[in-house]
Amino acid sequence: MAGLVLNNVAKLYPNGGVGVKDLSLEIKDGEFAVLVGPAGSGKSTLLRMIGGLEDISLGDIYIGGERVNDLEPRERKVAMIFRNYMLYPQMTVYENLAFGLKLAGCGKNELHERVMETAKLLELEELLETPSEQVTGIDRYKVVVGRALARRPEVLLMDDPMISLDGQLRCEMREGLAELHHRLGVTVVYVTEDASEAMLLGTKLAVIRDGLLEQTGTPEEICGRPQNRFVAEYFSRPAMNVTTAKVEEEDGRAILWVEGCRGVFSEENSRRLLKGEYAGKEILIGIRPKDIHAEPVCGEKWSDNRVEAVAETCEEYGGETYMTFRAGDETFRALAPEETKIQPGDPVVLAVDPEKVYIFDKDTQKAI
Ligand code: ADP
Ligand code: MG
Repeated sequence: MAGLVLNNVAKLYPNGGVGVKDLSLEIKDGEFAVLVGPAGSGKSTLLRMIGGLEDISLGDIYIGGERVNDLEPRERKVAMIFRNYMLYPQMTVYENLAFGLKLAGCGKNELHERVMETAKLLELEELLETPSEQVTGIDRYKVVVGRALARRPEVLLMDDPMISLDGQLRCEMREGLAELHHRLGVTVVYVTEDASEAMLLGTKLAVIRDGLLEQTGTPEEICGRPQNRFVAEYFSRPAMNVTTAKVEEEDGRAILWVEGCRGVFSEENSRRLLKGEYAGKEILIGIRPKDIHAEPVCGEKWSDNRVEAVAETCEEYGGETYMTFRAGDETFRALAPEETKIQPGDPVVLAVDPEKVYIFDKDTQKAI
């Protein structure tokens, strides 16, 4: 198995398009790395450069310590699974698993050995003689993965392989893939636009936008300490509430004002704000909808951080009900409380846990 190092990699297309601007990244041996970001951010370009399907305009790529810039794809010990993977429908599962090995000129005995080993690994032994067009669901996907793994790659590259699957199958595949990675220890580089998929699968995430790296880290690091507003919003579904707040200093603590309401910061945020000399200035605060609590009556919770609001609309997201609330000129989205039924038009109090408030510089949009 092998790790990967990308040093100041860029891709300039002949038509003047820039696929990747300047990106450095280290992926450790055995890691499940996810390149995640919006469409057009350069994820596929980067993956194709790692796989050798695209020339590297600037910078260097190392696989297992070896510089691969000038190596052919088949010399790089990588296998790729694309978005629109297909099986050869007339061939049996066995023949599908053997196909790449045959092309690579693998000897008959070794080929058989590797196919059987791969089939065992993926629990496909019973299906080996089945025509692949009759293989369905998760087994079909296993054959696709098996076909890539049969060549014993050191790095498995996957470009949004689950994009076309429906919800249930997608869930099964994710679990299967995570489990397989755990068992094999193969290094995976996986591309997706879906932040929640990235969170579920990745041991390391690389958030990419406009051909540049925004942040790398474990899912917990990316979610818990986003380095800028873009990352914070990308990893919040439904959308994070972002609003302007005025910072003031009161008895050595930073406090905030939003829509005429006073609130407190966590100790950590207060320290950062005063150190950064934000007292008297405006900043952006971000709060995930699940961290705003709407109460029809005043509870005791977070009595320092409250704003009076009026319920507006209801929406479903991921099996949960969210509501929007209007406070002055601002609209906030919050998780609707389970027990109490709030109707549009009802007055409520929104309360926020100060530990769950993200703070950003208004100009640079970077986390403070
Ligand atoms: P992603 O996979 O993140 O959606 P891509 O890597 O496909 O993004 O594309 C990144 C950028 O490179 C986009 O602006 C896209 O238009 C451009 N691009 C991709 N492929 C080519 C190409 N063959 N020629 C010119 N520009 C390209
Ligand atoms: Mg792509």
